[in-house]
Amino acid sequence: SIDILKKQIEKCNNIVFLGGAGVSTESNIPDFRSSDGLYKKKNYPYSPEYMLSHTFFVNHTEEFFEFYKNNLVYKDAKPNKAHIALSGLEKMGKLKAVITQNIDGLHQMAGTKNVLELHGSIHRNYCMNCNKYYSLEFILESQGIPRCERCGGIVRPDVVLYEEMLDTSILERSIQYISNAKILIVGGTSLNVYPAAGLISYFRGYPLVLINKEKTAFDNRADFIFREKIGEVLSKLI
Ligand code: NAD
Repeated sequence: SIDILKKQIEKCNNIVFLGGAGVSTESNIPDFRSSDGLYKKKNYPYSPEYMLSHTFFVNHTEEFFEFYKNNLVYKDAKPNKAHIALSGLEKMGKLKAVITQNIDGLHQMAGTKNVLELHGSIHRNYCMNCNKYYSLEFILESQGIPRCERCGGIVRPDVVLYEEMLDTSILERSIQYISNAKILIVGGTSLNVYPAAGLISYFRGYPLVLINKEKTAFDNRADFIFREKIGEVLSKLI
């Protein structure tokens, strides 16, 4: 099936990619739900969902930052074959957008220009009081709760925590790209997190390609399914 799909990709110039944490596991960033994912770690008193929630951030801010810095930030991670293949597809003018649930910035590091970050980015941080912008390094170098140098407000990452709303303009643009796409490639995501997973419903083209090591709730809708490493599959395809 990889050869059939390859021919369709060669003919198509309106492809969209929708991905998640599994895209970055080959860069040694653990995902959430694999057997060695963050949700299987047992050395914290609360569930990762709770420790990454708005409620936890507000009530246990210092513990939030400790958990966040130790489990979601991999500052030395580099793009892998999947990020590089997608960036190549964009350079050929075939890939219109990468829509990602990831917050690691690796698609941009691989050279992809049109990246829609549904859940924000570890690389953008801002003072909750005066909006001053801060780098990832500032967060990593801060002891305890990061504080604004200008006004003393809390500096938080521009990432979407559980219980928080997604940026509606990014969501609307994602819907537009997916509605207009001729081929949709979905990969490295368990499709458990909404509204990201629900975006697939807007796809009207053919084929829907799913690349994921484990089964997902959307498998029955896919035209092609690859249960292999996404870096391997994408570099063979592109
Ligand atoms: P998830 O952990 O729920 O699912 C990841 C899926 O990817 C799993 O089904 C797994 O089988 C598959 N997978 C793992 N490695 C793979 C590989 N090499 N090739 C093919 N498939 C592979 O992740 P999700 O669906 O993205 O949702 C969880 C949330 O996790 C998202 O909101 C995201 O923001 C956040 N997250 C992001 C990062 C990151 O930025 N790199 C890392 C961890 C979690």
